[in-house]
Amino acid sequence: MKRKLVFSVIGILIILFMMVGGYKITVSRSYQLFGGLTQQIDTEQKVVALTFDDGPTQNVHESLPLLDKYNVKATFFLIGQDIEKYPEEAKQIVEAGHQVGNHTYSHDRMVLKSQSFISEEIEKTDELIREAGYEGENDFRPPYGKKFVGLPYYLSKEDRETITWNIEPDTYHTTPVDKVNYVKENIQPGSIILMHPMYAEVDKVLAEIEGVIQTLQDEDYTFVTVDELQGM
Ligand SMILES: [Zn+2]
Repeated sequence: MKRKLVFSVIGILIILFMMVGGYKITVSRSYQLFGGLTQQIDTEQKVVALTFDDGPTQNVHESLPLLDKYNVKATFFLIGQDIEKYPEEAKQIVEAGHQVGNHTYSHDRMVLKSQSFISEEIEKTDELIREAGYEGENDFRPPYGKKFVGLPYYLSKEDRETITWNIEPDTYHTTPVDKVNYVKENIQPGSIILMHPMYAEVDKVLAEIEGVIQTLQDEDYTFVTVDELQGM
């Protein structure tokens, strides 16, 4: 009886450890079970990549001129169903010379999903990205940065690279000033910065982006696309 209880307790502990370990792998920005993952680049050169998640939305009309003003090329991880809603905006991103990446079709969590669901999400979005005229390197970023077994397995089979980030101002701060300060304090050569310019309060997020660009350009950083960063 006592022995049975001990085994049950050990069993529960093992399951708990596996759940915690599995969750950590799922949300980790720097590790996944299969295939290549880039969170930042190891370099001495003062280069960084500015990356934008989600959309496109009508906010593109305001973010593109801002990037142009500072001569910055960024990387946009676009959602397939949003490209369907805003095809012109997707084309404008491509025409402005930015890198475009795949952020799935529905922005659903790609955890505990079948291989056919995952491949449909990614391939449908690839097709929409190509229809927008994009011909460059098409990297992938998982929604919410989440990936467990099925997604990395699919990506490694397809020889597709996962791009995460090491600088995430939106996670830790709410005001533009705090976000810019956080970036200034944590930036390293080869960093990948994640920002979200496609939603409400566009003026606020544009101020954040402009603050980040000015601050880092003042420190002699050059902005490059993720693909260019990986070539360094
Ligand atoms: Zn997203």
